[in-house]
Amino acid sequence: MIPLIDIRRQTAAIRNELDAAIARVLDHGQFILGPEVRELEARIAAYCGTRFAIACASGSDAVMLPLMAMEIGPGDKVVTTPFTFFATAGAIARVGATPVFVDIDPATFNLNPQQLEAVIDGNVKAIMPVHLFGQCAAMAEINEIAGRHGIPVIEDAAQALGAEYRGKRAGSLGLCGSFSFFPSKNLGACGDAGMITTNDPALAERLKMLHVHGSKVRYCHELVGMNSRLDTLQAAILLVKLGHLDEWTERRRANATAYRELLAAADVVLPEDKSSRHIYNQFTIRVKNRDEVKKLLAAAGIGSEIYYPLPLHLQECFKGLGYKAGDFPESERAANEVLSLPIEEGLSSAEIAVIAESVTAATIDALKGFGGHGEV
Ligand SMILES: *Cc1c(COP(=O)(O)O)cnc(C)c1O
Repeated sequence: MIPLIDIRRQTAAIRNELDAAIARVLDHGQFILGPEVRELEARIAAYCGTRFAIACASGSDAVMLPLMAMEIGPGDKVVTTPFTFFATAGAIARVGATPVFVDIDPATFNLNPQQLEAVIDGNVKAIMPVHLFGQCAAMAEINEIAGRHGIPVIEDAAQALGAEYRGKRAGSLGLCGSFSFFPSKNLGACGDAGMITTNDPALAERLKMLHVHGSKVRYCHELVGMNSRLDTLQAAILLVKLGHLDEWTERRRANATAYRELLAAADVVLPEDKSSRHIYNQFTIRVKNRDEVKKLLAAAGIGSEIYYPLPLHLQECFKGLGYKAGDFPESERAANEVLSLPIEEGLSSAEIAVIAESVTAATIDALKGFGGHGEV
């Protein structure tokens, strides 16, 4: 059995370090905004190459807080991709603004910059590309268009800590970057946690207030903010893991390289985009008869997952936006074809070989219609 992700494997490998870090927090007792939170902010800012990093309670909050800081709300539009985790568009809707979708580039699964300009009007107050699966969006093109229209760019970098675009890190490519430390992300907490990076001092100042109920001086509130703090315990855990992140990322990249070789004949892997350093939060292949392949893999004891089966423009909660099936054909095709395979750093090369062999066999069998209703 090889699950899609086995978080316990990583925990076991660094258990002594984690126990010691947790014990230190229990001993000093500063559970809210303790010294580990400040240290993690400094370390993440340095890691991403930005002046500031502001910790918050989740990646979802990390996407929403910049919108709040920029006073984006009812009547405003924010442009993003429909092929992403719900939180991206959810944050836009939660501040009362309207998500406006642009289809993806099928070669990268990321927002297609060639379709961006067509949706820009005077009400668009931000553009929010997503670095999906750990690969940076086409930031040069997106920034060029955004700059020409004077619109800020917020990177949803939740899946992309350490990813690079033309030598610069995710989170330093726009006005600000939003990160998630959800357990399945490359740097994962033992619970929820998030971070926002920026080079903009004024934005950093507002974010620092907004995540503690809009106050700088205790019980004096300049803004209406919220409680979105990162726990000291989670920060201590993340500091331990951050020390291993580069090694883990290199192992993920090595796993991806092995898959690329082993799966070359199956023709299911997208070509590598050389302008971007992919950190492989997910290794996602494209297959016809995807649901059949997923079932065959499960029968062989191999976990896989569909990120994401329903594009956001077709979600029930966004019915009111007026989109319909067919509006974003590449996002819809991706939703029917994508399958993410195990990629975590702890996988052995023997396991990678078994998975690749099973994927190759399953794609052939699925086409033959074994175990289902496919056709030869
Ligand atoms: C994980 C994720 C988020 C949200 O992060 P949480 O920490 O789960 O709230 C937002 N956007 C994307 C693209 C994500 O993958």
